Amino acid sequence: MACTYCVGAPDWEIKKYTYWTAYLKKNQAYLGTTIIALNRHIPDLFSATKEEIEELQTIIVRLTGMMKELFGAKMFAYMAQSSLENLHANIQIIPRYDQKVRFGDVTFSDPQFGRGYDPVRHQELRPSDYSEMIIAMQQKLEGTKETENREELEVPRPE
Ligand SMILES: [Zn+2]
Repeated sequence: MACTYCVGAPDWEIKKYTYWTAYLKKNQAYLGTTIIALNRHIPDLFSATKEEIEELQTIIVRLTGMMKELFGAKMFAYMAQSSLENLHANIQIIPRYDQKVRFGDVTFSDPQFGRGYDPVRHQELRPSDYSEMIIAMQQKLEGTKETENREELEVPRPE
């Protein structure tokens, strides 16, 4: 069986980085749940190189910032798991919410907020909802970059 991550999963791709690719998860029990997978095969997350881990940290900071702005996520759980089906070391970002959030026609809730997330919860969306969510996330990521640049320009210069 071909490795789905090597073949690429363009339908689910949020953004491809140098060493990692961020994909929206099919299970959206927690709105915005994303998997960040290494672009090569290693069995364990912390077998990644220092450069790869550094990029991973940068990606997580950008993605969680985007999820706070876009969905109002309050905090984040992280889950890293190895499996025989997926040879790409990966980590999942599971956003947590202290209130209900509506995206498109779907209302998302997080009844366990403040405690550990429930790995059994499962919510799938219509195909169009995934597409709209990915586009919104991509646009917000681009916008975040522009904001950073603008702030750089607005740094007061010494007189
Ligand atoms: Zn692969």
